[in-house]
Amino acid sequence: MLKGKVAVVTGSTSGIGLGIARALASAGADILLNGFGPREQIDALCGDLVKEGVRAVYNPADMSRADDIEAMIAFATRELGRVDIVVNNAGIQHTAPVEEFPVDRWDAIIAINLSAAFHVIRAALPQMKARGWGRIINISSVHGLVASSNKAAYVAAKHGLIGLTKVVALETATSGVTCNAICPGWVLTPLVQKQIDDMAARDKLTAEQARARLLGEKQPSQAFATPEQLGQMAVFLCSDAASQIRGAALPMDGAWLAQ
Ligand code: NAD
Repeated sequence: MLKGKVAVVTGSTSGIGLGIARALASAGADILLNGFGPREQIDALCGDLVKEGVRAVYNPADMSRADDIEAMIAFATRELGRVDIVVNNAGIQHTAPVEEFPVDRWDAIIAINLSAAFHVIRAALPQMKARGWGRIINISSVHGLVASSNKAAYVAAKHGLIGLTKVVALETATSGVTCNAICPGWVLTPLVQKQIDDMAARDKLTAEQARARLLGEKQPSQAFATPEQLGQMAVFLCSDAASQIRGAALPMDGAWLAQ
């Protein structure tokens, strides 16, 4: 379905981004991987994608830097010929009460979880508009629609990302470019494993008990969504069937938001 299309997935060396990169590659898209990690591991991930019969390149752009992001989109265009799909996925977390929230963590979360998407979109949109087709997928969160304590920067950034999604959807509404947000609940990735480990250490729980408590507090299904399921959602948003889904914030949250 996506043969001949090129997808840039930020933060795709791990977790949800990697799941989305793999699903887009399975659907035929060439992939630019981005994110941190040991070079041998990243080369192996690119090698796995190439086995799907697509091209895969890596760019180490730091999503907190606008110049890196512009260079990444230029690199993808040069190496793979075009950029048709962008998935703004890179994200970090930090938890603390608002009055104790470290200023540098606030700045980093706003930069990586929100401003990076703006920089990716402004760099990639002109060529999508020129060709009359594009897909912009922003990985927000249930925390783009509701809040939790101790996540001031993350909740502010994820709400902001949904606002940005709506504006871009309006500005592209009569074109073949769509822009949507996906709002996952809990997905068991390194980002969430750290929160489980912190809870286990703080409250003297086993990892299993901490995992059950985390899900029990918020996610009625008591089950994690998976990077593979999110990958399939991204593939669907790239399909013709999804061409009139515009400016939406689509949850995959085990009924978190139904409460
Ligand atoms: P993760 O920690 O497994 O992966 C994050 C990725 O982002 C990694 O590839 C990392 O190298 C990359 N990254 C971090 N900082 C970067 C930077 N400055 N520049 C470039 N890349 C950077 O996390 P995840 O759980 O897969 O999260 C992915 C996205 O999904 C995030 O935006 C997160 O907020 C969102 N999300 C996650 C969950 C969840 O439960 N895991 C729920 C809702 C939303």
